[in-house]
Amino acid sequence: MRYNYTKAKNFSEFTTRNGVVDTPLDFKTFAKDIPCQNACPAKTNVPLYIEQIFQGNYDAAYRINLEDNVFPGVLGRVCTRPCESACRHNWTNIQGPVQICHLKRISADFYQTPIEPLIPWYENTGKSIAIIGGGPAGLAAARELFRFGHSVTIFEREPRLGGMMIHGIPRFRLPAEIIEAEIDIITRSGITVQLNSDITYETLKTIQSEYDAVLLTTGTSLASQIDLDVQADNCMYGNDFMYAFNTNTLAPLSGNVLVIGGGFTAVDCARSCARAARKLMGEQGTVSIVYRRNQENMAANFEELEEIVHEHISIQTLCTPVAIVKDQNKITGVTFVKNKLEVSASGGKPSMKPIPGSEFTQECDYVIVAIGQTQDYSILGLYSSADEACNAQKKLFSAGDFRTGGKDVITAVADAKQTARQIDEFLMGTKRRSVHIAVQMYENEHDGKTGRTRDFDLQWLETMPTAPLSQRAQDPDTEVEKGFELQQHASVSSRCYLCHYKFEIDHDKCIHCNWCIEVTPRKCISRVSHVFFDEDGAPVDYIKSNTAADGTYIHIDSDECVRCGKCLRVCPTEAISMVKMTKIECSNSVTKA
Ligand code: SF4
Ligand code: SF4
Ligand code: SF4
Repeated sequence: MRYNYTKAKNFSEFTTRNGVVDTPLDFKTFAKDIPCQNACPAKTNVPLYIEQIFQGNYDAAYRINLEDNVFPGVLGRVCTRPCESACRHNWTNIQGPVQICHLKRISADFYQTPIEPLIPWYENTGKSIAIIGGGPAGLAAARELFRFGHSVTIFEREPRLGGMMIHGIPRFRLPAEIIEAEIDIITRSGITVQLNSDITYETLKTIQSEYDAVLLTTGTSLASQIDLDVQADNCMYGNDFMYAFNTNTLAPLSGNVLVIGGGFTAVDCARSCARAARKLMGEQGTVSIVYRRNQENMAANFEELEEIVHEHISIQTLCTPVAIVKDQNKITGVTFVKNKLEVSASGGKPSMKPIPGSEFTQECDYVIVAIGQTQDYSILGLYSSADEACNAQKKLFSAGDFRTGGKDVITAVADAKQTARQIDEFLMGTKRRSVHIAVQMYENEHDGKTGRTRDFDLQWLETMPTAPLSQRAQDPDTEVEKGFELQQHASVSSRCYLCHYKFEIDHDKCIHCNWCIEVTPRKCISRVSHVFFDEDGAPVDYIKSNTAADGTYIHIDSDECVRCGKCLRVCPTEAISMVKMTKIECSNSVTKA
């Protein structure tokens, strides 16, 4: 019997199935197929490190993270997890995303071999760079610039490095020794550090004349001001409060505490307050977060919101502070108006509409205002933004929160890595490194084995073990999330679909026997009559066909594929191939395979 189908052009979603590629089609395929890596600001190779954890190779998993995101132990605890929002498990609706962030922490908690600083890519260039600010962006940029062969000096205002990681995030979420160990990997490489160096506009001018390039990474050190009279003995801005809490310089506080705000700092302040004012075990007095939008718009993730409740902290939403009640130099209450939310025309967070007559006053003994942070531009003189100053002065660069405004650690790291490459290009007059996609074909003898089986999708989500309240109350620095135990690693890591593997059909070899379709665990392979491509040759849509007569292709939908390899093993004509794709950065002098 002859099938009556229209023979169409064979196609692949890569320009080669074995080699190093870099066309728009290759990058599109990569970004679509590995959504978690694409969503990570630092483009961390998520499936590769999860695969290593599944195989028990913690050292390799840690090194993959270290290369990509610089602070695996830190980010495994405090990352804002844009990768998890993009994970394919969200689409397939099987118990929510892979616990990518917790898996990163596993790599940091369980690696065995001491980590040496990463090896420089180039010989010493004789160029010198000053970095002003030793927080996550400054440190990440320092590491990258040192690897480019430049001599690097970090000027840090505080007596220790770490910036917002050390002063802005409480120890019970991020222990100091974790931060210090990862900073140590960077500074041991040979970077010069000058602590207690408060650089001003005047001293910056001197530094600019002495170095080949200067990078500003001083973060967002000023509190965003509230438009109310909050100057009082019993009120602090959120970043000042966290600094005092983390440096053990906080004055004793008690009674009822109001924390105004709904971002990361507000939540950290409230949880730190619960410890400082000894409220964890339900003692007298309250800690309340008051936020102007609803809980879904708060920055805290689901696990953190659970801990807030567990730690006896209340959350009042849809309330905006409108007046302060004072008795001499003390705030005794805050007046709020209730809001209703309206869909924002610009598509951002919903806007708030005050409800007339809904005002109420809440009495309090202490107020923390945590409504955001902003940059201190005094170092720039007359310039009013980092970009403006850097565009006007060719040796001057900026990165991280100082350039972008208050974001998070992973965004600061990613921005710093990118800026380090711009600085190198400026200093050397040429772009020395580029990103490519390495596509590695697995021979048929490999049998399409990724290590995954269908029942991995039925794994229950593991719950993060946490310290009991009594322990948290005894020692405010007790880390709350204790990390997964060894016996939990296999089930946490096996949920990942290992999206860096890709199965494709060579249509010249396919005989339309349908065997692959018969063995699929999901609707991952279909007979289709048409496939539609965009201008780069990437398939964007297809029409399924119900009859052999109009079936042009047998098509694998990577979005549905769970990388079980059954189709490859059953195909009688070896039409199905498996490749592994890896984003790589290499020196431009390296010849393509
Ligand atoms: S299943 Fe794994 S590789 Fe795929 S998006 Fe989720 S974490 Fe990433
Ligand atoms: S490997 Fe093949 S059979 Fe298995 S899920 Fe992917 S396309 Fe379907
Ligand atoms: S099993 Fe192989 S030959 Fe048969 S339809 Fe699938 S890809 Fe084509």
